[in-house]
Amino acid sequence: MQHFPIFVAMAGRTVTLAGGGDVVLAKLRILMKSAASLHVFAADPCEELRDLHRAGKITLTERTLAPGDAAGSVLFYAATGDIMEDKRLGEIARADGVMSNLVDNLEDSEFITPAIVDRDPVTVAIGTEGAAPVLARAIKRDLEERLPTNLGTLARIGKTFRRAADRLPFGRKRRDFWSDYYFGKGPTALSEGGEDALRPALENLLEAHLAQAPRKGSVAFVGAGPGDPDLLTLKARKLLHEADVVVYDRLVTGPILDLARREAEMIDVGKEGFGTHTSQTEINALITGHALAGAQVVRLKSGDPSVYGRLDEEITTCEKAGVDWFVVPGITAASAAAASIGQPLTARGRNAGLRLLTGHDVNGFADQDWASLTAEGAVAVFYMSKRAARFLQGRLLMHGASPETPVSVVENASRPEERIIAATLGTLEPTLSRANLSGPAVLMYGLAPRGAAAALPDLQLEAL
Ligand code: SAH
Repeated sequence: MQHFPIFVAMAGRTVTLAGGGDVVLAKLRILMKSAASLHVFAADPCEELRDLHRAGKITLTERTLAPGDAAGSVLFYAATGDIMEDKRLGEIARADGVMSNLVDNLEDSEFITPAIVDRDPVTVAIGTEGAAPVLARAIKRDLEERLPTNLGTLARIGKTFRRAADRLPFGRKRRDFWSDYYFGKGPTALSEGGEDALRPALENLLEAHLAQAPRKGSVAFVGAGPGDPDLLTLKARKLLHEADVVVYDRLVTGPILDLARREAEMIDVGKEGFGTHTSQTEINALITGHALAGAQVVRLKSGDPSVYGRLDEEITTCEKAGVDWFVVPGITAASAAAASIGQPLTARGRNAGLRLLTGHDVNGFADQDWASLTAEGAVAVFYMSKRAARFLQGRLLMHGASPETPVSVVENASRPEERIIAATLGTLEPTLSRANLSGPAVLMYGLAPRGAAAALPDLQLEAL
């Protein structure tokens, strides 16, 4: 973030501008919505500026800005339409200790003005650091359509009721009250009875909320999918949005965590493949503890929570503690990796069944029913198998699997860093070790990436 968004207090303060034509008028139009006093310096002002001055909307001084003129102002805009002149004036303002903006000159400006959606007192500021004004305009248009024009009224009346609503305990209870007002009772009361209906609606709503029994906490076991935030379910998104506490694993990516409510308590219980940061007992105590205290807990697990996620242990803990729980499925790594290599996980005439296996279990490298995997067309997806690849290769060859059997390894499926390694059982190692994978990966036994890759074993399809 090269530019940090803030909202500047304007009441009782002055914004100084320099310029006498259209450029300054355009800036004034937006600044006149604020509570600031506006002072324009222009040696040769246009008629509209004089009109604004006569109407008392601005103060106009008919000469070029000089040192000392901007002193004490909160902001300065150089808007003469002449880049060099703007630069000179910007330096004068800066010497007066005022932050300056040179219109259409991002590089020499100390601050920039965002695109604004105005539902006063609700204001949305959109910035793209000058990279894509078109994008900012499109977002603005989108928000203009989406935010009801009466939102400002709701917020203004709501603000006068804040003190009264403090009778509700801080946290979820109070939040529920306000979201009920803004997204339920408020808009209805406003459209049915106009602005005057809002205060009585707030009073009724508060009584109703005060009478409600305290909400029970719960634990949602939520699948975060393979990493791409677009692969979250709508339900997962919604729960993240409402969570009081999010307990998440190492493989859950940053962009997904960013979707959690800003006030939510985020607890990283990151488990490394070998060794554990937080013990399972501690995790169990964490989730039930928070839920018993009334929190909506989201236990966020990568992929699908029911696949290699120790879900049963955590559910049992909830049951023992008498905590309500439910599961929200997610896209498991095998599905994401299959999508990446363009292969179905089952295919008529090839494999009627599919096995999800782990390269490791509590005892080390996991033993499997190897003989059954050597059957023609067999498909298995191995999780947690990077280090077990040589062991798998050895066991399968020993049981008679063909060295030509395709094996694809997909690292970081669905993420920007995704890599696909196409090999055969015979070449799996040392190909895999040479590829030096650092991210999570699944090994897809019996599947080759669709297309050219099938004919070219050992090819790394980094750009696929
Ligand atoms: N519940 C998860 C699996 C957790 S076990 C799921 O359903 O996907 C952790 C293993 O999942 C990793 O060792 C790796 O084998 C696999 N994995 C998780 N995310 C992955 C990704 N984005 N790409 C490839 N493999 C992934």
